[in-house]
Amino acid sequence: MKYTALKGIHDIFPPDIYIWKKVESVAEEVLSSYGFHEIRVPIIESTDIFIRSIGETTDIVEKEMYTFPDKAGRSITLRPEGTAPVVRSYIENHLYNMPSPQKFFYAGPMFRYERPQKGRFRQFYQIGAEAFGAAEPKLDAEIISMLKLFLERLSLKELNFEVNSIGCEMCRPDYKKALTAFLGDRTDALCPDCQRRHSHNPLRILDCKVNACIELRKGAPQVTNYLCKECKEHFGELLALLKLLNISHIINPNMVRGLDYYTRTTFEVTSEHLGAQKAVAAGGRYDRLVEEFGGPPTPAIGFAIGMERLVEILKTCQSELETPSPKIFFATIGRQADREGLSIAEKLRSKGIQVELGYGNASLKSQIRRADRLNADYVFIIGEDELKSGRIKWKKLKDASHGEIGIGEIESFSGLFQS
Ligand code: ATP
Ligand code: MG
Repeated sequence: MKYTALKGIHDIFPPDIYIWKKVESVAEEVLSSYGFHEIRVPIIESTDIFIRSIGETTDIVEKEMYTFPDKAGRSITLRPEGTAPVVRSYIENHLYNMPSPQKFFYAGPMFRYERPQKGRFRQFYQIGAEAFGAAEPKLDAEIISMLKLFLERLSLKELNFEVNSIGCEMCRPDYKKALTAFLGDRTDALCPDCQRRHSHNPLRILDCKVNACIELRKGAPQVTNYLCKECKEHFGELLALLKLLNISHIINPNMVRGLDYYTRTTFEVTSEHLGAQKAVAAGGRYDRLVEEFGGPPTPAIGFAIGMERLVEILKTCQSELETPSPKIFFATIGRQADREGLSIAEKLRSKGIQVELGYGNASLKSQIRRADRLNADYVFIIGEDELKSGRIKWKKLKDASHGEIGIGEIESFSGLFQS
């Protein structure tokens, strides 16, 4: 019997795990500097939470959710995204009683039953941020700027920032009407998904990737021309602030995002290094969602970064993987030397120094080979002669320099504390 991970689901292990950890620590550092605090929400929630927030006629709800009954017959869903659980938690725990805006970030796995391909998995990780309680475009600009700073800290370049405004419940109906009128009686030519969308969710036709739909929507009215006065002002101010902050961006009137809860600002960061699935991060405003969930009226905005895609770019653009490596490798010959090696290793490890030992009576040569493969700084060789004389030989693998040291002096060996 051969066990394998489920289709579209991957393990993350060394050396890649160190890129993941680096990304997570940079995210925490940058997001903290903007006053975002970590929130940990469950991986499973009641199914209606997602249907209600993401929307019934979205790809996620129609096709992609891992939904199953629990033993009591309740419908449970593995979270396909993080915003809905955070909103649920915000309301349930009365977090709105704290001074606004409240800012949270999360990191963890999401689940979508999609067709696995490059950059698209069934379990994938996101780092997300959500800010509640401020309606002004200043927050939108700050959030986009925070995302840019985070990506810059990771030395990522050649990224495109795309922004759009999809209006609000006041002006969007007019736009929907205009769009449906534009498509008129040509809807038979749309892909089957868009034919369905046409009556319930026509905006989604704008970001359909099927050629026929791309063709058909050429010359379609643009949502930015239908914004009400308030939405227009909001978008205008956001664009002015992005200019002020030197954030170069593209206005993409077709970027409507796949989740129904968005209002006004939507944005996406794409990379030319990724091929077809090129969105690294995406987000937008959702000013109505908290209220629709039974909370007080609370404007909000958030985004999520796709970790796998980000790591993919880091791997293509940066060759160095920072895998932690041992400072010292004790190559030991014989049982007594083995014990001595173990005993010194334990003292050094208690000081936080990474130490590795030889195993399985391996020859000196093969122990040194392993030390080399582990990228150890020093090999300390302990055999019978060394035990007798109390002095052991060391070798620095990088430059082949070598020397001798008294066994009792190893702990204070100055080389151990330099990189
Ligand atoms: P896409 O258009 O690529 O399907 P989306 O609109 O479904 O993206 P969001 O729900 O906004 O994506 O999620 C934010 C980010 O999470 C995406 O930009 C992407 O980087 C990542 N992401 C989304 N779905 C997947 C997936 N199935 N596998 C890997 N990463 C994903
Ligand atoms: Mg998707």
